[in-house]
Amino acid sequence: MSRAVGAGAGQPVLILKEGTSRTRGRAAQRNNIAAAKIIAEMVKTTLGPKGMDKILVDSIGDVVVTNDGATILDKMDVEHPAAKMLIEVAKAQDTSVGDGTTTVVVLTGELLKHAEELIDQKIHPSTVITGYRRALDIALRELEKIAKPIKLDDKKTLKKIVNTSLGSKSLGFATEHIADLAINAVLSIVEERDGKLYADKENIQIVKKMGKSLLESELVNGIIVDKEVVHPAMPKRVTNAKIALINAPFEIEKTEFSAEIRIRDPLKMKEFLDEETRILKEMVDKVVKVGANVVFCQKGIDDIAQFFLAKAGILAVRRVKASDMEKLAKATGARIVTDFDDLSEKDLGYAGLVEERKIGEDKMVFVQDCKNPKAVSVLLRAGLERQLDEAERALNDAIMNMISLIRDMKYVPGGGATEMALASMIRKEAPKYPGKEQLAMLAFAESLEMIPRTLSENAGLEPVEILTELRMRHEKGEHGYGVEVLSGKVQDMFKAGVIEPVKVKEQVLKSAFEAAAMILRIDDVIAAARKKPGEEKKSSSSEYSS
Ligand code: ADP
Ligand code: MG
Repeated sequence: MSRAVGAGAGQPVLILKEGTSRTRGRAAQRNNIAAAKIIAEMVKTTLGPKGMDKILVDSIGDVVVTNDGATILDKMDVEHPAAKMLIEVAKAQDTSVGDGTTTVVVLTGELLKHAEELIDQKIHPSTVITGYRRALDIALRELEKIAKPIKLDDKKTLKKIVNTSLGSKSLGFATEHIADLAINAVLSIVEERDGKLYADKENIQIVKKMGKSLLESELVNGIIVDKEVVHPAMPKRVTNAKIALINAPFEIEKTEFSAEIRIRDPLKMKEFLDEETRILKEMVDKVVKVGANVVFCQKGIDDIAQFFLAKAGILAVRRVKASDMEKLAKATGARIVTDFDDLSEKDLGYAGLVEERKIGEDKMVFVQDCKNPKAVSVLLRAGLERQLDEAERALNDAIMNMISLIRDMKYVPGGGATEMALASMIRKEAPKYPGKEQLAMLAFAESLEMIPRTLSENAGLEPVEILTELRMRHEKGEHGYGVEVLSGKVQDMFKAGVIEPVKVKEQVLKSAFEAAAMILRIDDVIAAARKKPGEEKKSSSSEYSS
């Protein structure tokens, strides 16, 4: 709405603040497309199992080595609004299905590149969007036809799907093990709701602990709290645990006293200390009275309170993370209580076993055989912190991959096979539509071919030869054919075991279309004047604090 309009013959009316810059029409479009293409170029070389790694160095010099598209985009500090939009869409892809981030960015870049060519041929951006939309609809419809159904007990195929997703992670020898952990974790939390399978990622806890190797990572049936039992005289193992979750300190806030009381008489001092002890004992008594034998406290536990808890035979853990408290509540059925006076027997949770175990150098408390058997944990082990982090990202992806699969229990061929198949189907149908839209549909089809092309390029193969062979296969209706980059051969991806959840591909297509359309619709960029460095620090301190 805000415009700087020339008011007749007089002075121009200035509505935008001084220093505001503005780009309009074709210039704005060109500029946005260029920015998005740069982002696409940047992540392109990481696509597929033969993709390269990137080293990311942040403003304080921390280094991350990864080829995970989502991580790269997350760490990239970009300025351009269109580039930011593309990154947002890719991140949304990552949070919704956990995979296909790089593919979305590469595909969007390609859609925009072709759109620019069409716009140069005087085709209006909205016509390009309409054509892309039609192509997308055909692709989504045909995707269902290429997809094959899978059963939950078909572990062999499940493993191939998860392995395809993990193939591009630098886990080396541990890939198989991580895949098994992800599959078994998801299989143990899967539920049936209204005849549909459902798995909630919140039910899987990932705990990282340095030491040993990735191969010694394990699935634990329950919750792990990365803290030790607070007092040596407390039991280290409690069966039939009745668990109290308390978000209040077993302490007396010192300020309450020191601010008001000045003690001169030594006898008074003793009285005062006795009073403190009495209050702490009262707190513990409340826990004992309701019958708890395990306490997880989100806050601190005073030495004296520890002593009383130990005397009552209670296993207690202090300073438990809020997120762990919530997981414990869900797993054991306990309610988190914020006031000792509120605590009642009803609030207690149950676990068959609560036990402190030594893992590497540290002690951790395991809460097992819970009320909600759907709570599981993966204990990740690795010798280096960097390895642990990359393993966590991979495990997360593999878990998300399984969850995406479970949503509709269907899979499609990878290695660019699905993209080739959809491209050939769009080409077949495009002639039914008016000229300009048709051109946009063909551009969509060509953009899809960028996936097998990039996979081949990244593997050092001849993209032209491979695409020619792939087109020929798909022309004949052999829609499983893609490029298997480890062997360097064009083959049936179903047979080669390079397969992916249909949900991931579906989301890739939708997200790439959305991102491209969003960027194409912009014909005006109005940017406020940039603040001077000094001002910026003051106004957005949080961005600079870490
Ligand atoms: P994204 O972030 O998009 O998931 P990846 O780097 O994980 O990017 O690469 C995914 C692509 O790699 C998919 O198209 C998938 O089919 C393909 N892919 C995985 N394994 C193989 C393989 N062995 N041969 C060919 N392509 C593969
Ligand atoms: Mg991937």
